[in-house]
Amino acid sequence: IAFQEQKNDTDSKYSFPKNDYSFGNDDFEPIDWAAANRNAEESRKARWANAPKLTKDFYREESEVANMTMKDVNELRLSNNNITVSRLITSKDEKFDDIPNPVWKFEQCFKDYPDLLEEINKQNFTEPSPIQKQAWPILLKGEDLIGIAQTGTGKTLAFLLPALIHTDGQPKPRNGPNILVLAPTRELALQIEKEVNKYSFRGMKAVCIYGGGSRRDQINDFQKGAECIICTPGRLNDLVQAKVIDVTTITYLILDEADRMLDLGFEPQIRKILLDIRPDRQTVMTSATWPAGVRRLAESYMKDPIQVYVGSLDLTATHTVKQVIEFVEEDQKFNVVLRFLKRLMGSDKVIIFCGKRTRADDLSSELCLEGLSTQCIHGSRDQADREQAIADISSGDIQVLVATDVASRGLDIDDITHVINFDFPRNIEEYVHRVGRTGRAGRSGTSISYITRSDWGIAKDLIRILEEAGQEVPEELHRMSNRFDEMKERRGTDFKRGGRFNRRY
Ligand code: AMP
Repeated sequence: IAFQEQKNDTDSKYSFPKNDYSFGNDDFEPIDWAAANRNAEESRKARWANAPKLTKDFYREESEVANMTMKDVNELRLSNNNITVSRLITSKDEKFDDIPNPVWKFEQCFKDYPDLLEEINKQNFTEPSPIQKQAWPILLKGEDLIGIAQTGTGKTLAFLLPALIHTDGQPKPRNGPNILVLAPTRELALQIEKEVNKYSFRGMKAVCIYGGGSRRDQINDFQKGAECIICTPGRLNDLVQAKVIDVTTITYLILDEADRMLDLGFEPQIRKILLDIRPDRQTVMTSATWPAGVRRLAESYMKDPIQVYVGSLDLTATHTVKQVIEFVEEDQKFNVVLRFLKRLMGSDKVIIFCGKRTRADDLSSELCLEGLSTQCIHGSRDQADREQAIADISSGDIQVLVATDVASRGLDIDDITHVINFDFPRNIEEYVHRVGRTGRAGRSGTSISYITRSDWGIAKDLIRILEEAGQEVPEELHRMSNRFDEMKERRGTDFKRGGRFNRRY
């Protein structure tokens, strides 16, 4: 202000009407932040004073789980993709010893819910996945949890089954949904809905609320009643503002793929939604990575959460997939892919990943002109077209789906035989996601990546993934990686692409 006033005297360009903008020292009253915070806390308490009683602990630990020695626990965690657990410390008194032991059988968590157990048995799973083994006891105990795990690890079921039990245990009438799942994309939201609907538990229903789909249909579905709502943040905000959805009944909140939601700029919308959800709720967050923004979100909205990190699980998909690397020039890519596609067998299904939407459109049209039945999916296509494309490849009506990374997460089609990286992804995590679109549900799969000279910055990370999965590493990839290192040294700059990778592996 002093600066502005000085400017007013000397420079007409900066002149402000003095009466409006200058604050005389006499008028200045410092804000009493302590009082403001106290008021905020009091009004928050008053707001939730009449909320229904919340029960969170539904866990009865089986004796064989409770009696495990520390050595047994460590061995079980180690043999399950090296599960690591910790408290995200928010207080000074560190508490690590109260984290529940992992389980290894479905019955150890769901024996008291035979109807749910029966639903699980229908899926013919042999055992809980690593994230489930550790997350279920934590969540059934009512703790907040951060799961560092990706799509394909069984994470949806990891948070979902405890959510159903939690909902069943709340006082009735429920007057609205108990479970809110926030997901970054429509595809993931629909995917979660599909997963929820595989388990019918005590008549509970789920509805999906996402931008792009018919607002009216979604409102109608919601108004028929649902215990679980699966939403993208924008559309949920829209319907909360329109007073169609009331989130004050939510007691179990899931922020799925939080890193992705922040990447897509949803943080303000998420924060807005959370203002209206009761603060003593149970909160689950999943994220493939652990960047500062996600950490901040966890610190603001979770209560002493337990973090479960499933070490190299991200890479399990890459173990069941044969990963082929082909070195090509940029202008050869189309002919190479065409030659490959013309040799497909009738039962083959291929997803081709492109870096940009326009490129995906172009490639898909070129392939159609060549007589190949192809569909295309990316963020600029209508929701109905995207759903149709997924339905077509799922049913086998088409064999080739061209996609951008919007399709690399959450797409769960069991019988994709090949993934082609027409353009190599921006970072190695995206590579792992894409590769994981094949080799699913116990099947084998093949990924083929076209590498051009300009992809040399990713060579080192790719070598590490290939080696970890016991795949053949072409000599040329080593040469590329060395050339890149030499160039970096010459220029004295770190040119590494996708810097997140190094922190985690
Ligand atoms: P998600 O990580 O939630 O995207 O799950 C990916 C797929 O794994 C889904 O099709 C699930 O039905 C499946 N799945 C979930 N739990 C298990 C399990 N314990 N064993 C085998 N498959 C599972």
